[in-house]
Amino acid sequence: MSILSMENIRKDYGSVQALKGVSFNVPKGTVFGILGPNGSGKTTMLGIIMDILKPSSGTYKLFDEVPNETHRRQIGTFLETPNFYHYLSAERNLKIAAAIKERGEGDIPRVLELVNLTQRKDSRFSTYSLGMKQRLAIASCLLGNPEVLILDEPTNGLDPVGIAEIRALIKKLHLEGKTIIMASHLLDEVEKVCTHVAILKKGELVATGDVNEILATEDIVEIGASNISALKAAVQQLGGFSHFNEQGNLLQLFYPVGKAPLETINQHCFNKGIVLNKLNLKKKSLESKFMELTN
Ligand code: ADP
Ligand code: MG
Repeated sequence: MSILSMENIRKDYGSVQALKGVSFNVPKGTVFGILGPNGSGKTTMLGIIMDILKPSSGTYKLFDEVPNETHRRQIGTFLETPNFYHYLSAERNLKIAAAIKERGEGDIPRVLELVNLTQRKDSRFSTYSLGMKQRLAIASCLLGNPEVLILDEPTNGLDPVGIAEIRALIKKLHLEGKTIIMASHLLDEVEKVCTHVAILKKGELVATGDVNEILATEDIVEIGASNISALKAAVQQLGGFSHFNEQGNLLQLFYPVGKAPLETINQHCFNKGIVLNKLNLKKKSLESKFMELTN
C-alpha cells in the first residue's frame, strides 16, 4: 500500500514555480526523506499533503484513496512551529494540544514515554532545552497514535546531542511500524535515518527510491597505459563495471562500493599484453553525488 502518491503536482506562487510537476510514491512503513537545498519546494510539498496549500494542478492520494479528513486524522504533523505555553508544564501543554486535536488525554503518558520526557513532564516548557521542545512537539504529533508522521526539518537548530536524540526517536517510531515523511536539506541526515528519498531541485524531482540505491556512492578505478586505445578495448572485454569514462590518458571505471576487482583488472590487461602504468582506487563521496544530483 502507498501512504502517499503524488501525481504531477505543480504549485505556483504568482510567478514563482515552487513545484514543477512532481510525482512520487511513499510506501507504507518507510522513513521517507524529501531532500533538497533551501527553496527547492519541500515545505510547499508538505503543506499540500496536509491541505494547508492547494496545488495549482495535479492530484495526490492518501492511503490509495482520494484524501479526506479521516485520512488526515491518521497523520500527525507540525508544519508550523508548535505553540506551547511557556509558563505551563509539558503535561499541561499536551492536555491543551489533545483538546484542540480532539484526541483523548489518556494517550499523554504513552507519548511522553516515547519521547523520553516522562521524568520532566511537570517542568515548565520555558525550562526545556531546544531538543526537549522539539521532542515535545513530536509527542504532540503522536497523540492519538497516528499511523503516519510528517516532520519538516525536524533537527533544525538543534545541537549535536539534540540531533542524535531526534534521529534515535525517528528510528524508534519506524521500528514501531510508523511511516515517517520528513523534509530535510541535510544529506547526512537523510542518509542516516531515511529508508527512501525523493530529491528535489528547484521544484523538480531529480531522483526517488531506496536511499541505498539513490545515494549509493561508487568506487572509481583509474587505469593508464601507453596505448590507451588497446587498454580501452581490453577493459571493454572485461566488463563488470557500471560505466567508464576516458579522462585524458586515463580510463575511469565505475563500480559499486567495494566491488572493484583490482587484481583481476591488472591480470586481464597483462594477459592482453598491456602493462599498466597507473592503477588507482578512488572513492566517490556522498557529497559529490548529491552535488551531481542537485547542481
Ligand atoms: P524549502 O522548504 O525546500 O526550503 P519552500 O517550499 O519553502 O522550499 O519554497 C519553495 C519556493 O517557493 C521558494 O522559491 C520560495 O521562495 C517560494 N515560496 C514559498 N512560499 C511562498 C509564498 N507564500 N509566496 C511566494 N513564494 C513562496
Ligand atoms: Mg522548508
